[in-house]
Amino acid sequence: MIRTAALLLVLCCASSALAADAPDLVVVISVDQLRFDYVDRFAPWFTTRGFQRFAREGATFPNARFRHGLTSTAPGHSVIGAGLLPAESGITGNSWFERGAPVDADRWEWYFDDITPWRPPHIQGTPFNASGDRWWKAGGSPRYSTYDARVQVTAGNTAGMSPVSLSGDSLGDRLKEKHPGARVLAIGLKSPAAILMAGRRADAVYWFDHRTPAFISSTYYRFNPAIFSFNELIPGYIPASARWMPSPYIPPDDLQRATFDPPAAWPLKNTTYGGTFPHPVANVRALTYTPFAHQMLFDFAYHVIATENLGATRGTPDLLFVAISSTDNLGHYYGPESMEVADSMARLDRSLADFLEALDRRFGDRVLIALTSDHGVQPNPEIVKLRDPNADAGRIDVRNPDPRAQKISDLPPLRIEIERTLARRLGVRFRADAPLADALIYFFEEPALWINGPRVDELRLDRERVKRELRDTIRNLDGFAGAWTNTELIAPNAGGSAIERLMRASFRPDRSGDVLMALRPGWIWMWGSNSTTHGQPVENDLRVPLMLLGPRIRPGVYEEDASPLDLARTLGAVLGVEAGGRTSKVLGCVTRD
Ligand SMILES: [Zn+2]
Repeated sequence: MIRTAALLLVLCCASSALAADAPDLVVVISVDQLRFDYVDRFAPWFTTRGFQRFAREGATFPNARFRHGLTSTAPGHSVIGAGLLPAESGITGNSWFERGAPVDADRWEWYFDDITPWRPPHIQGTPFNASGDRWWKAGGSPRYSTYDARVQVTAGNTAGMSPVSLSGDSLGDRLKEKHPGARVLAIGLKSPAAILMAGRRADAVYWFDHRTPAFISSTYYRFNPAIFSFNELIPGYIPASARWMPSPYIPPDDLQRATFDPPAAWPLKNTTYGGTFPHPVANVRALTYTPFAHQMLFDFAYHVIATENLGATRGTPDLLFVAISSTDNLGHYYGPESMEVADSMARLDRSLADFLEALDRRFGDRVLIALTSDHGVQPNPEIVKLRDPNADAGRIDVRNPDPRAQKISDLPPLRIEIERTLARRLGVRFRADAPLADALIYFFEEPALWINGPRVDELRLDRERVKRELRDTIRNLDGFAGAWTNTELIAPNAGGSAIERLMRASFRPDRSGDVLMALRPGWIWMWGSNSTTHGQPVENDLRVPLMLLGPRIRPGVYEEDASPLDLARTLGAVLGVEAGGRTSKVLGCVTRD
């Protein structure tokens, strides 16, 4: 359904819209963790020049939802860039476990550095030591979605990064196929966001390494060293006061009304930079947890456009992906009901408005802008319960233990409980002081558990039976919406519940675990102290804004079922290339040639 006002706009603009040429530059902006309700909820404190411009002059899709269940950053961005489900592209999660791979101490060390493992009280001190008998040496290695040992980063000491794990062509790959002179670039705060949107044939991708700290690239790309001149400007984004205070854009009374953030909630947020304003911004790492980094990323995007002179060749469109992930950093720390997220959104709107106006000045009507997000977010369960002690909400802690853990009793309490119940169902003996090598479950990575194959074989148990018993153990636990064995998900089945279809879309046999799990709305995986998160097949995580603005886009509010998955095929239709997988479609806003 198109609103009447928009319909009138369509009628009076139809002739010029139909005659418009394809754009010379397409800019796809992903605002990381931009939940569907944020744009409306904070609209009273926006300018008319930022988000509101999409509502006024562009096409907006209020019913846009992802069509896969594991709503994490790497899958979300691969979907935006390729129009392929994670089951098709192979980007099932931010990380997964490679069962058959050699035990790679470097990858394990990086893994334990990246996550916050469960640490039993008696284990203290330096977390990683590769020598000796360790539980994680039983076989296989975790793999980060953009990890690529064959390439090197241009600065810093992280592993090489590339789209090597991404299967299938992205929008950018198809564009370069048709127009070899077209340039495909991406910038972002986080490597997976930028790399996985850009695709496999991108000219260059630049992301932020907070350790250096600088924007870097990798030898996978034909990066341009001139781009790195921007790095000198980075410290200038730290405010002179070295503090993040609320902006004047939302009056104090409104800020209270638009949020649920009483003093009792402050210690329930992640307090690394304090639980409320003012937040110290002592260094560049802290900067990336503030809205000042939103401005830095938009400025860097414009720096790339200007340095590369993108969009300058008529008939050869260029493509730039912009991943604003500072929103995700601070969103995890403070949560969707916080004053910080409200202030971040008001500031983001100004940064976006200035970026759009800079594009206007440079390109006029020759640029098409799409804006969406990689996932939403759920509220901190403890803050939900502050409001309503009876709320159905909580954290599920099935994390892997510290790398030095030795016994089953070193696992988090719920993992011990699952071991105990599973052992009982299978008729095998359970001992909490048994070595971890005797545990029936070896590894957890969202959204799955991997069973301990060698142990199951040693006990002469049937692996399928163990998986089914584990599935049923999980289904009986509080907070879970469902559990499925990989054998169930690999079987062709067009039916199943809506939630099962979403989990199938996030499943690939060689990268997914033995038993996949989904949590109920309000429930999240425990992954770090007090932070909230996303990753479930629930409305708050699945539903995000989707909006387009520019040539070949008919303005209006489109109530159709839509998805960021449809963006690659839709932009492909504008650019005259076929992109996107078989479950994606061209959105209703595209005008014909
Ligand atoms: Zn994200």
